[in-house]
Amino acid sequence: MIQGVILITGTSGYLLNSLTKSGAIAAILTGLAVYFGFGVKGLFLLGAFFATSSLWSKYKSAAKASIEEKLAKGATRDWRQVAANGGAAALFSIIYYFQNESLWLMGFSVSLASANSDTWASEIGSLSRNNPIYIRTFKRIEKGTSGAISLLGSAAAISGALLITILTMLLFHLPVYESLIIFLFGFLGNVIDTIVGAYYQQEYRCVNCGIHTEKKVHCGKPTRRIKGVPFVDNDMVNFLSGLIAAILAISLIHLS
Ligand SMILES: [Zn+2]
Repeated sequence: MIQGVILITGTSGYLLNSLTKSGAIAAILTGLAVYFGFGVKGLFLLGAFFATSSLWSKYKSAAKASIEEKLAKGATRDWRQVAANGGAAALFSIIYYFQNESLWLMGFSVSLASANSDTWASEIGSLSRNNPIYIRTFKRIEKGTSGAISLLGSAAAISGALLITILTMLLFHLPVYESLIIFLFGFLGNVIDTIVGAYYQQEYRCVNCGIHTEKKVHCGKPTRRIKGVPFVDNDMVNFLSGLIAAILAISLIHLS
């Protein structure tokens, strides 16, 4: 029954152009993994992330059109983007299925809080009136640059982590201490994302129009890498920051 709902949700994402075919398959697999691990409650958390993220990305989307030019992702998410945001959560769900320990619930919720924090920060932060500040130079830089922060974006990051924390607390009846950890490490995931994004994420320049972008192709031509480490793109940074934040939170709880 629930498996059917997961299947229909993934397929609708494809039919509504929110997901590519590979993205829909990845979303269905993620949904199934989360359901096996944490049941309907887990799915509800995952759904809260996907629903609010899609809502924010559609909110004032015309104002963000110029930023889309700089970002690698289009409006339709493929499997890499799904895995970047839901992969760690799926992983912790599978581990929890085999080993019923609350540590893995922490890993699950921290990685989702981190993904939600990061998505809200970029979708809402890009609507900031002023250009963001680049953390490598502390100077203002074009919107849509990875590694840049704004007041609005940071407020959104805090709210994004807070939403997942409150939902987890209510659904799984968590004590205050563990809830606080989810909030702090979820937000930390977004901080790690910003730092890694600033120092290691690759950036390209279009050989035709000269725009700095995360896209590998622009103006129909392959772009040239001007910064960052090979293979470290936005998806990789998202995935790693959520996973690192979750592992740090698990280690802290395990040691305390
Ligand atoms: Zn171009």
